[in-house]
Amino acid sequence: MKRRDILKGLIVLPVAGGLHGSTVSFIETVASPQQTKRDFFKELGVTPVINASVTMTFLSGSLMMPEVLEAINGTAHDFANMYELQDKVGAKIAEMLKCEAAMVTSGAACAIVLGTAAAITGTDAEKIRQLPNLPGPRPEVIMQKKHRYLFDQAVTTTGAKIIEVDTVQEMKEAMNQHTVMALFFNGAEESSISHEDFLSVAQEHRVPTFLDAAADVPPVENLFKFQKMGFDLVTFSGGKMIRGPQSAGLLFGRKDLIHAARLNHSPNEAPIGRPMKVNKEEMFGMYAALKSYIERDHEKEWQDWLARAKQIGNRLQVIPTVKSEVYVHPGPANAFPNLNVYWDKQKVKITPKEVVAALKSGSPSIVANSKDNLLVVGVVLLRPDQVNIVADRIKEILKKAI
Ligand SMILES: *Cc1c(COP(=O)(O)O)cnc(C)c1O
Repeated sequence: MKRRDILKGLIVLPVAGGLHGSTVSFIETVASPQQTKRDFFKELGVTPVINASVTMTFLSGSLMMPEVLEAINGTAHDFANMYELQDKVGAKIAEMLKCEAAMVTSGAACAIVLGTAAAITGTDAEKIRQLPNLPGPRPEVIMQKKHRYLFDQAVTTTGAKIIEVDTVQEMKEAMNQHTVMALFFNGAEESSISHEDFLSVAQEHRVPTFLDAAADVPPVENLFKFQKMGFDLVTFSGGKMIRGPQSAGLLFGRKDLIHAARLNHSPNEAPIGRPMKVNKEEMFGMYAALKSYIERDHEKEWQDWLARAKQIGNRLQVIPTVKSEVYVHPGPANAFPNLNVYWDKQKVKITPKEVVAALKSGSPSIVANSKDNLLVVGVVLLRPDQVNIVADRIKEILKKAI
């Protein structure tokens, strides 16, 4: 099904009163800025940004959970053997994710490189040393034509080439002795082959399957869904809604493939993954983030997000013609509530795009989005103390345009 078809059927909840005028206290799930400490933003003249959007790498991903900072600060004072650490962290993560094996990578893009490398080399030391310059025909990775995306460069980084297919029949015909893997982009707008058919063709030809679900939590259930479905390898970003280190990610699934992926990674000196090093603190941090994410009260967090959106909406509706609706993105990526704000442009003479520009260039700098006639305000990455700051800045900008 096409995403825009899903969008059409989506329920949007109008913002009603109830919270009007009141101040709700939101769950504190991020570390608060420390007033007394050295201010590095100031020292370097870097502008701190309020993220009223979604997780984006250029905006430093997400804010790490306090538990993650605790893990980083609490482990920085001692050395650790990195092989042992990856063993232990990997085992714990595999247990949490109910799969055979897991490892911490330097992000989902790194996980795609390492997963592909593992599928090509197995444990062959000579191949690991030679990658991406293996002699002979290039290894082949099968993808749906509709799943081609920017991140599939991580596949070809290994020297593999991508074979595009459109149908189950084409996928069957594409299988040959050079096929090493089949990659499924879970967040693609469209699929011409379902998860189930994709798996069954690959399994029939004993080709490992890899599913990229980098941005696909919430819901938390997605962390368990795809290995259960039968995918051999799965990746999630660490620095998106799991709120671990931005430069960490998860690769998990079949034990032999994770073993081979680790042989292709740091701390080994020469493999393709060496430039994608993960440090000790990020490994502990990723573990702490995942544990905290899984154990979180997700229902409460969801209600908190809705309350934030409503609070902003209520603060804005005092301006003539300004209305807002909570909009829940259908996913699979970024499946959480935003606030859509709109107004009569005869009365409030400014476009959503101009509001976005004013928010960005103002102080504090706020990143939000516009879409057609809507101002789209993200709430899930705001610190609790930023909810009213964002609302008041938008209000100020809209008021000026009356
Ligand atoms: C964000 C993203 C990636 C890259 O993840 P990093 O953790 O930033 O390396 C890969 N694939 C998809 C679908 C993504 O959304």
